[in-house]
Amino acid sequence: MAIFANRALLATGWADNLRVELEEGCIARLTPNVTAQPGDTHVDTLLPALANLHSHAFQRAMAGMTEYRLAGRDSFWTWRDLMYRFTAHLSPEQVQAIAALVYLEMQEAGYASVGEFHYLHHRPDGQPYDRLAELSDRIMEAAAETGIGLTHLPVLYSYAGVGEKPLEPGQARFGNDVDRFCTLVDQARDARATLPGDCRVGIAPHSLRATSPADLAQVVAAQGTGPIHIHIAEQPKEVAEVQAGLGARPVEWLLANAPVDARWCLIHATHMTEDETRTMAASGAVAGLCPVTEANLGDGPFNGPTYLNAGGAFGVGSDSNVLISLTEELRILEYSQRLRDLSRNVLVVGEGSVGQTLYCGAATGGAQALGRNAGEIAPGQLADLVAIDSRNPALCALRSDQLLDGLVFAAKDHVVTDLWSAGRHQVQNGRHVNRDRIVSNYRTAIAGLLADL
Ligand code: ZN
Repeated sequence: MAIFANRALLATGWADNLRVELEEGCIARLTPNVTAQPGDTHVDTLLPALANLHSHAFQRAMAGMTEYRLAGRDSFWTWRDLMYRFTAHLSPEQVQAIAALVYLEMQEAGYASVGEFHYLHHRPDGQPYDRLAELSDRIMEAAAETGIGLTHLPVLYSYAGVGEKPLEPGQARFGNDVDRFCTLVDQARDARATLPGDCRVGIAPHSLRATSPADLAQVVAAQGTGPIHIHIAEQPKEVAEVQAGLGARPVEWLLANAPVDARWCLIHATHMTEDETRTMAASGAVAGLCPVTEANLGDGPFNGPTYLNAGGAFGVGSDSNVLISLTEELRILEYSQRLRDLSRNVLVVGEGSVGQTLYCGAATGGAQALGRNAGEIAPGQLADLVAIDSRNPALCALRSDQLLDGLVFAAKDHVVTDLWSAGRHQVQNGRHVNRDRIVSNYRTAIAGLLADL
């Protein structure tokens, strides 16, 4: 099959009247300055589609439930208590139905793939399901229903805090020791055979709070072919806890004690000193930034200028999925910097387009973080592609070199017309091809869940 685009952003720059031939989920050939052939899918403007590198799909169902202020001061930690109460009721069917809706929303927003940081493993009482990887299977089913490119990241979650504190009752569904975790990962790797070949299974040691140094070393040695994701420094309280327990700040400790390299993605690298920022940038790891969630939870802004100037790789994720919007993630990422620095056009090195720096940086960094051969429109890459309509009033005044600035700062996700995940044409005319069924299943699942809460 082939796509004909009026214009497209290639690794080498903008091309006009481009024919993109796809074979086995990959880009086979690019031919600019031609006319469309019968049967081609005709789009306006074609871009590499981003990876959404960090998601906890089930949290989408509690969006809007935690924005009411009670007596006292709400924080990340009071939000987490509510999230734990919520997880106590989710069934495997509900997990699948929620994840399918989330992946549909991601694709309609222009994401071709997702990194699912999956820590809900067991029954509500903490007993394993008959098949240990039951809920990993459900995530894979949701990926199959939507056609999204899945990088599944089973989470090792063993402790309630630094110093091997025993899990709290609200964490019973998450817990595994290293041996059982490795069995779970092996089962998930077997289940991957049911999905298209671009599906990946990596690992996610949850955080330095929820793993021990010895367990972290063991699991990285046993299962660390990549990708490896970890929550690292989201909250000041977490930084203080790690500093007290391990004698160094979280990013500082990880970089000194783990083989951090291009396989790794450090989620919420929010609280870093200048030294940590530069050392992390040099490690080759990806900073997994989740601007909408980090704003929603009051985490704080990323140390963007230092990191970018040091050549650091980054990508974006929707994390809590309180809102799934690619344009909003990139917009808030830049606006958080402007608000802090009382400045404009912060996240660009030297002179240039902020929109293009953010979009193209997140495309290549996100693909790296998910272990996908994607992030640019070039022969041999996975066909992770998104088409937008530049005739939309939000974009129609802009030249090609202004288009990504328009997309990031002036447009909404509904400028997306088409999306391909590894060549699977899942969004057409702005709608996911399985939208009606997936939304209907979601409504049924939510009605059941609310009846149980
Ligand atoms: Zn997270």
